[in-house]
Amino acid sequence: MLSFSLRSIIWLVVYLFFILAPLLALLSGSLPPARDFWTEFSVALGYAGLAMMGLQFGLTARFRYVTEPWGEDVIYHFHRRISLIAVGLVIAHPLILFVVRPELLALLNSIDAPWRARFAALSTYSLIALVIMAIWRVELKIRYEIWHLSHIILAVVAVVAGILHMVGWGFYLDDPLKRALWIGLILFWLALLVYIRVVKPLFILRRPYRIVEVRKERGDTTTLVMQPEGHSGFRFVPGQFAWLTLWGSPFKITGHPFSLSSSAEANDGRVEMSIRNLGDFTQQIPSVPVGQRVYLDGPYGAFTVGNPADMHVLIAGGVGITPMMSILRTFADRGDSRPVILLYGSKDWESITFREELETLQRRLNLKVVHVLADPPADWQGERGFITADVFRRHLPPPFADHEYFICGPNVMMDAIEKALSEMGVPLEKYHSERYNFA
Ligand SMILES: Cc1cc2nc3c(=O)[nH]c(=O)nc-3n(C[C@H](O)[C@H](O)[C@H](O)COP(=O)(O)OP(=O)(O)OC[C@H]3O[C@@H](n4cnc5c(N)ncnc54)[C@H](O)[C@@H]3O)c2cc1C
Repeated sequence: MLSFSLRSIIWLVVYLFFILAPLLALLSGSLPPARDFWTEFSVALGYAGLAMMGLQFGLTARFRYVTEPWGEDVIYHFHRRISLIAVGLVIAHPLILFVVRPELLALLNSIDAPWRARFAALSTYSLIALVIMAIWRVELKIRYEIWHLSHIILAVVAVVAGILHMVGWGFYLDDPLKRALWIGLILFWLALLVYIRVVKPLFILRRPYRIVEVRKERGDTTTLVMQPEGHSGFRFVPGQFAWLTLWGSPFKITGHPFSLSSSAEANDGRVEMSIRNLGDFTQQIPSVPVGQRVYLDGPYGAFTVGNPADMHVLIAGGVGITPMMSILRTFADRGDSRPVILLYGSKDWESITFREELETLQRRLNLKVVHVLADPPADWQGERGFITADVFRRHLPPPFADHEYFICGPNVMMDAIEKALSEMGVPLEKYHSERYNFA
């Protein structure tokens, strides 16, 4: 088994190869008569941008072996950043051409322009719409599911129109070898798309789950207990998550990601997800009937337990407690007695999800639970407000850099805690974060 760091380097090299190879191949072999530098440069930007865009289908294909070394949130973060660069390159391509050859501005008139220019315009406009919707989805009040569907459609239109534009121009594609290379690359992108939207859902369809219990928890949260039907389920490590499709088939465009909150030691394949009512999908969870068939795609994520010799500091805000519960329940089942401190921020005493079970776990594990309440009762003696560096100093034994930290909660809380840890001299590799918002 390759180590995570070696695997991450290999995937980075593969990624760079896919981005740069088409470009280098275009410049090798027989070349058409050279044009001025800026024209060639702008064409190179267009090719590189298109290659990067095509590869985005691979980044979001949820290949477990690829995403494992980084974690899904890092991959999505990379996807967003690299998309902006790709779009920048694609847009720079015509802009440079318009500056050096102003007569090409006439191509903007799509009525008289040839098809290859119309495809270029279609690709560019789709990309601009895609970026605007991705950056300002929340401000534009676009529902996640609608946004997700239009994101995929716009991406496919942008890439297909980009390819048609490239083929229509064909300046660098007369050489049969280069043509073969681009055809191979395009077939690869298509195969990625077919894999994500057809092959993978078919696999998931053959491995359904059945809801066997719907449990109400404190804090407007509901636990779904799911039993594999006709198969043995999947193994996961505590802290990982899966994509849930509750209604409809796995061919549905949008699944919802949830941490697995149950113990990783369950030997009958049962898994649990504890879901807080936060929006239009999650509000329907309490009314899911027992017996309902559901589909899970997982496990994913790199947010997992660390070195058994280190003290584990779990920092949870609100529903960010779910991966921590999986970690604690797994430790309890394994009889793992490493020291653990859970710093757990909740709104008030009544809404502390899993409060009673945490009390029991404190007796079974080497665990100390510190509740931090934003709105505590009048006689509350414990921590109040939010989890800050001062809370760390009061409850964690020094040296702080020796512990491993696991953080999951609202983005503002996670940003503040990561900042506090870095100010306390905790090295980056000692803290692990799970963000519940990929957007
Ligand atoms: C790795 C991970 C693990 C998670 N684990 C849990 C958990 O254990 N318990 C829990 O209650 N919540 C968890 N969440 C959050 C949960 O996925 C969202 O709250 C839920 O999908 C929101 O759906 P909604 O339609 O009810 O809310 P909405 O109001 O529609 O969405 C709220 C926000 O959630 C995000 N979101 C919505 N739908 C999706 C989707 N299909 N995929 C990705 N993001 C989406 C969007 O940023 C959106 O703005 C997790 C999220 C991630 C990324």
